[in-house]
Amino acid sequence: MADIDALARRLRAELGSEQVVTDRHELRTYECDGLAHYKVIPALVALPHSAAQVAAVVKACAAAGVPFVARGSGTGLSGGALPHAEGVLIVTAQMRRILDIAPADERAVVEPGVINLQVTKAATPHGYYYAPDPSSQQICSIGGNVAENSGGAHCLKYGFTTNHVTGLQIVAPDGELVRLGGRALDPPGYDLIGAFVGSEGTLGVATEVTVRLTRLPESVRTLLAAFPSIDAAGAATSAIIAAGVVPAAIEMMDALAIEAAEAAVACGYPPGAAAVLIVELDGPVAEVEAQFEQVTALCTRAGAFELRIAADETERALFWRGRKSAFAAVGRISPDYIVQDGVIPRTALPEVLHRISELAASHGVRVANVFHAGDGNLHPLVLFDARVEGEAERAETVSGAIIDLCIEYGGSITGEHGVGMDKAKYMPRMYGQDDLDTMQLVRCAFDPGHLANPGKVFPTPRLCGERPGGDLAARFPGVEVF
Ligand SMILES: Cc1cc2nc3c(=O)[nH]c(=O)nc-3n(C[C@H](O)[C@H](O)[C@H](O)COP(=O)(O)OP(=O)(O)OC[C@H]3O[C@@H](n4cnc5c(N)ncnc54)[C@H](O)[C@@H]3O)c2cc1C
Repeated sequence: MADIDALARRLRAELGSEQVVTDRHELRTYECDGLAHYKVIPALVALPHSAAQVAAVVKACAAAGVPFVARGSGTGLSGGALPHAEGVLIVTAQMRRILDIAPADERAVVEPGVINLQVTKAATPHGYYYAPDPSSQQICSIGGNVAENSGGAHCLKYGFTTNHVTGLQIVAPDGELVRLGGRALDPPGYDLIGAFVGSEGTLGVATEVTVRLTRLPESVRTLLAAFPSIDAAGAATSAIIAAGVVPAAIEMMDALAIEAAEAAVACGYPPGAAAVLIVELDGPVAEVEAQFEQVTALCTRAGAFELRIAADETERALFWRGRKSAFAAVGRISPDYIVQDGVIPRTALPEVLHRISELAASHGVRVANVFHAGDGNLHPLVLFDARVEGEAERAETVSGAIIDLCIEYGGSITGEHGVGMDKAKYMPRMYGQDDLDTMQLVRCAFDPGHLANPGKVFPTPRLCGERPGGDLAARFPGVEVF
């Protein structure tokens, strides 16, 4: 077992003692991320101020053979930033400088602890914003967004984080500072930025991120449409996309999610709706106006019984407040809940939602649905009361069965919240052994010592020195199998 006291002494000397936490009570602050039912107290927390300090921490970990886990704001919902009991948690909360806003290049360069919304706030006076907008954007960090390849309501039109990162500085697991890409597009060679984005802290720590800035649209129109059934709202979603319109966002909430949002933020959604859609269009005025007419007609044709058009920015914010607060709002109607995250083809929405409600009924739990309908990214919230015997287990069963449904319909076990700790066990349901072995090769190329966020993403953690399942050596002659 590594000598944590010696590591703490080294880090205090290199970083300063106030940036190294070893007090057990203070360490508890970091024991979980947004998935609060997993808790682990780290051996040590480091609070670096700069890329050089991150490199010093990682180098010290490599020398001592101590695992490390990066943490941004700790809002992750898959246990990705769950600490390692014998490891170091590297918290980027003190690396919050916006290093450059370059409108002419349409780029911003930021430290990893910068909060997502701060990038937009800094870019807006220049006529730009940062498009990926997770609902947690008021608190989550850009480093966390990069690691999770985070999405948001507007990713339907603008793409996920991976489409907005052009450059990275990372600290590799041996402590070396490495630059990948930059402000320019399409560097030659392998797409290592593509590999790093979404790697959930298993390939190193991002210490600087260069992102694209997107021009603020000339016009934005937002519509709230209330439907008598989920089927009707699903049909409207498919009809809008089939008509060739790509809204900036199409979000859906069902009756239970609406009830929770009303209880929490009084967003004033139409009473009696079995589902609401928020549809937002943005772009040049003429295009938005023409498409808006099309969208309202399609919603009416699909059975919408009430259409509200945001008259101004205040009303638009109110429509969005209900949606963006929905996860937390569910706490108003249930003491406990699991936030699930899966993807299905958009056209399967009505069928899968029916099967989810059958699953819920047969297990005696309730499921609220709030999701990015436009790209088929479901967020079923499985409600339960942990004080009632057996309810937590039933909720867990329903939550796992929903993931099976996503796979059955040709989707994915996660849309945007990542695999982390929580979903590592589902990876073999989606990938064969060959796929997992190949991913392991990528991981080991960056992290042969297996120190970067070990135990996450992969179902069967193994050291890079161990031979993975299957006969990789035979299939890739000449390749050194880690
Ligand atoms: C209410 C709520 C709403 C949410 N809505 C959305 C949503 O709409 N879309 C969405 O995609 N997600 C959403 N999330 C999930 C979460 O906010 C995102 O995954 C976010 O990107 C996590 O950022 P963070 O800074 O909190 O990261 P953390 O939770 O601290 O870490 C997440 C992962 O990133 C790694 N990591 C953190 N920083 C670095 C770094 N600098 N270098 C390398 N790895 C790093 C960690 O090791 C961990 O694996 C939501 C969460 C909540 C609580």
